[in-house]
Amino acid sequence: IKSKLKNIGMSIFAVMTKLANEKNAINLSQGFPDFDISPKLIEFVNHFMKDGKNQYAPMPGVPELRKMVSSKIEKLYNCKYDFESDITITVGATQALYTAISVLINPGDEAIIFEPAYDSYAPSVIVNGGKPIYISLQLPDFSIPWSEVNSAITSKTKLIIINSPHNPTGAVISQDDINELERIVRDRNIFIISDEVYEHIVFDGNKHISISESEILRNKSFVISSFGKTFHTTGWKIGYCAAQKILTEEFRKLHQFIVFAVNTPIQYAYAEFLKDEKNYLDVSSFYQKKRDFFLELIKDSKFKPLHSKGTYFQLLDYSQISDKDDFNFAFELIENIKVAVIPLSPFYSRQNDNKLVRICFAKKDEVLYEASQRMKKL
Ligand code: PMP
Ligand code: GLN
Repeated sequence: IKSKLKNIGMSIFAVMTKLANEKNAINLSQGFPDFDISPKLIEFVNHFMKDGKNQYAPMPGVPELRKMVSSKIEKLYNCKYDFESDITITVGATQALYTAISVLINPGDEAIIFEPAYDSYAPSVIVNGGKPIYISLQLPDFSIPWSEVNSAITSKTKLIIINSPHNPTGAVISQDDINELERIVRDRNIFIISDEVYEHIVFDGNKHISISESEILRNKSFVISSFGKTFHTTGWKIGYCAAQKILTEEFRKLHQFIVFAVNTPIQYAYAEFLKDEKNYLDVSSFYQKKRDFFLELIKDSKFKPLHSKGTYFQLLDYSQISDKDDFNFAFELIENIKVAVIPLSPFYSRQNDNKLVRICFAKKDEVLYEASQRMKKL
């Protein structure tokens, strides 16, 4: 067969988690919580399974869940998405991203991707015959260099992918970014995919800015989120895509042949769980405590944290510990202190010599404590 993804190997998250398990290391690499989820949520799943909600869900998703998503978005971002025509429940954000990218990208189209970038964006563009155009976020705070974006726009530009809060850096977009984006796409045939899976994990009293808050952007965007991050249920793989009717119609044409429909009892359970808004509004403060706990633990180590404004990730500069590249440093960490982290290189298309690794702090306090003690030895 002719590979559609030449030069692409196994995802770094799969590689590091496998290695962490083999080496019996503390796994701070792949992003997932290691603690129990809400017993209430489990109760709801049980209830709906016993209640016979075990057959195919409607293709776009269970209406109860789409209604709850629509009203959550309206409450938080003051904008309307019709649950019937604008919201589709997906197999995690990953499938929503892949489907939306497939809707937009035809052979030869260009997609602007900011790097470091989540690893699924570029391959999804390439599989559809598109060309990723990479733009590096600017240190120290990984901001979007808008003059470079302006210069990168061509007649082939079809898509700009935004991710805020940002994996792996924890950066968040500002109102200025929204204004710049509006200016760029307003009179052009350019669309946006906004990956907002960490929308409920934003720190220091800041409020998540959703692309859907801007009317200009809303009309040209697929806004994507995931319950996995918000409800500590990454293994349940359910998310959603909100987009205006004409965009959603195209989205569903593909969605129905990629998965048709998504796990039924869990959709009902999420719909029930969403009725108590504390279940998502309290997630930011929960993770801010974890972030601060971990930062306090490693403050006397040689790892230098960069500021994480959201997500459950923290970048660490290890330049005071080693000159090795980030891959070799990460492999050495597993061997020497049995802590698994993610090197930053796989989030870049080009070679770079940042001495940065990413840790996930969605872990039990005792696990963060033990990891920090090991990290302090370096
Ligand atoms: N986008 C980003 C930025 C992510 O971090 C993740 C999860 N790791 C996803 C998308 C995929 O989400 P899901 O697990 O719901 O498919
Ligand atoms: N989003 C998670 C991370 O960034 C991993 C998801 C995956 O394993 N594909 O670590």
